[in-house]
Amino acid sequence: MIDNSVFHNKKVAFHTLGCKLNFAETSAIGKKMSDEGFVKVRAGEEADVCVINTCTVTDTADRKSRQAISKLKKLHPNAIMVVTGCYAQLKPDEISKIEGVDLVLGANEKFSILDYLRNIESDKPVEVHTTKINKIKQFEPSVSRDDRTRYFLKVQDGCDYYCTYCTIPFARGRSRSANIAQTIEKAMEAIDAGAKEIVLTGVNIGDFGKLTGESFFELVKAFDAIDRDVRFRISSIEPNLLTDEIIDYVAQSKHIMPHFHIPLQSGTNEVLALMKRKYNRNFFAHKVQKIKSLMPHAFIGVDVIVGVRGETAELFEDSCQFIDGLDISQLHVFTYSERAGTKMLDIEQNTPIAERKKRSDILHLLSDKKTKAFYESQIGKTYPVLWESRHNGESMVGFSNNYIKIERPYDKNRVNTVEMVLFGEWNEEKSALMVNKL
Ligand code: SF4
Repeated sequence: MIDNSVFHNKKVAFHTLGCKLNFAETSAIGKKMSDEGFVKVRAGEEADVCVINTCTVTDTADRKSRQAISKLKKLHPNAIMVVTGCYAQLKPDEISKIEGVDLVLGANEKFSILDYLRNIESDKPVEVHTTKINKIKQFEPSVSRDDRTRYFLKVQDGCDYYCTYCTIPFARGRSRSANIAQTIEKAMEAIDAGAKEIVLTGVNIGDFGKLTGESFFELVKAFDAIDRDVRFRISSIEPNLLTDEIIDYVAQSKHIMPHFHIPLQSGTNEVLALMKRKYNRNFFAHKVQKIKSLMPHAFIGVDVIVGVRGETAELFEDSCQFIDGLDISQLHVFTYSERAGTKMLDIEQNTPIAERKKRSDILHLLSDKKTKAFYESQIGKTYPVLWESRHNGESMVGFSNNYIKIERPYDKNRVNTVEMVLFGEWNEEKSALMVNKL
């Protein structure tokens, strides 16, 4: 058992897999631990506690989570190994059998990690604490900073949609969020710490406020009303929740960036129906047209899943043609992998693994074509760019309001500052535009 007073100067190592939401949550867990005296382990030191925040979106994510646990155990053989996150919620027994694991915490328990550490018995077998997924109520807005300059603010968790290929509702529970005042308070912490750009994240962020009687549109307006030098990006939002009034508002907003990330998943109505998505492709095309008619310079990223059950070669071809016709800037291509307990497994028609990979390659090429065309359409324009801390000593990168990646010679005084930049030529190798004049 660890005594409370002994948390002081105890060393903790973190490893996070998966989405930005997980990173924001690891950051919130880290803050709780450092408030109680823990310090982050430095390279070469041995940790007293390791926290692995796992992901279960695909088989590969499960495997990487297991590998991370084993790797950390080798590096820190005497540490208490705590495993949490989506994989821990979904398959706690599987994780508890992995050599070296001491504590498995589910979605409802992860933020109470200190209570569990206080009570853990060193000579006891592995402890598993999870809550049934339909009983999970816990929600905390949390914020993390990435290795660039951006902050990620978790504004919502869980999902009530049950798309047939997806396990997220089983791992993260029902849709929930804090209220607007609490969410803005969390954002202000990041702004006071120097944030110039905050990305609003969640599992299904358009569902914000469902339980508090508020709406995502009201949240967007509240962010826009913050009278500070900061910009906000809306991360992935379901097309049916990206209302026309939100698009109209963003088009005239001061702080919300002209950048959208919308999951399409398939470009045919047949496959959308098999996936139980809540829109058809004409609806999606309307959203893209609406954005582009008001903000021709907006960046639009689109998620697509290839090789799901029921996606025949003809349907894939039709999907590609539809996607090719959309005025979008980038595709995020995911290859379908079977997930136990999902409804999609009831569909007989299956796509061989090699064919899934081929379809993924085709869409990656289409994505490259779209990105290049979008970037080239922006050459000669001037937009505000936030310069990031990442650099290789010679050059640094920044992102414009409309999410164009731009590069210039490194200048440390420019890090985390916003500057108006005239966009120069496209650099194929770096997938970026160059600053036109220095
Ligand atoms: S909207 Fe669908 S794909 Fe997205 S998390 Fe919810 S169930 Fe999964």
